[in-house]
Amino acid sequence: MTQIERMADEVAQFCKERDWDQFHGPKDLAIGLVTEASEVLEKFRFLSESEALEVFQDSEKRTELEDEIADTLFFILRFAQRHKIDLEKSLTAKIAKSAAKYPIEKARGSNRKYDQL
Ligand SMILES: [Mg+2]
Repeated sequence: MTQIERMADEVAQFCKERDWDQFHGPKDLAIGLVTEASEVLEKFRFLSESEALEVFQDSEKRTELEDEIADTLFFILRFAQRHKIDLEKSLTAKIAKSAAKYPIEKARGSNRKYDQL
């Protein structure tokens, strides 16, 4: 069993014990994923770049951020587990697509979109 599968099983068990399958259709899980990702973003709202980096030095703020990242990961794992998405395969396939769009010789050191390289 891979680490990702182990984590997905942990999430599935947590939800099964609470009878939450009934609430975890794709729409609700997508809403949960974006909501939790927005809570990550909220931690940096109105901060300068240097202030954003300071979040990681403050143990209370860092823990809050770790919680929101974990919430986001929870929904990614749950979405994949409920709807049979192989996360490792999907990530590998997507990185291959991105590598084709962003060849190293053109993309290195650039933050331009692939159609503007
Ligand atoms: Mg949250």
